[in-house]
Amino acid sequence: MRRALCPGSFDPVTNGHLDIIDRAANLYDEVVVAIFVNQSKSSLFEVDERREMLAEVTAGYPNVTIDTFEGLVVDYCRVHDIPVIVKGLRAVSDFDYELQMAQMNRGLAGVDTLFMPTNPEYSFLASSLVKEIAKWGGDVALLVPPIVLKRLTERTSSAG
Ligand code: ADP
Repeated sequence: MRRALCPGSFDPVTNGHLDIIDRAANLYDEVVVAIFVNQSKSSLFEVDERREMLAEVTAGYPNVTIDTFEGLVVDYCRVHDIPVIVKGLRAVSDFDYELQMAQMNRGLAGVDTLFMPTNPEYSFLASSLVKEIAKWGGDVALLVPPIVLKRLTERTSSAG
């Protein structure tokens, strides 16, 4: 059984994340999408909300499961017996940091990282940008799944 982990904040999940999850699900028998719980980072959506959105948008994939974790990614991998992390690379700017982390994770626990070049359509796409655009009433309909768009609109309009 080949298993892979897609870790991230997913605040909220975007079409860029989904593209990577979709491709990972085609390569591996089982893909765990794990939401990193970072108490010190402020987020727009609670972890449970992020989890619900991810579960809904990946419902069509029988081999994708959603989980949450706190702490080191490699500890999560060890406990759940996952040998590889799948990461999307948007641009060269992602690479420096991701390379450092990948090498650290391999050194710490022998966990490998597979980099997938993002679909060029999503190379500029980040959750932080989506939140910023939505906050000012911009149109993000092409950047996130419909259920995420709905929640974003509700959240940003209620915030005022
Ligand atoms: P983080 O808080 O670690 O930046 P994100 O939830 O924004 O987490 O992203 C998690 C991972 O999803 C990233 O490390 C990257 O591998 C992938 N990712 C994010 N956005 C995109 C995108 N537009 N295209 C491809 N992969 C992406």
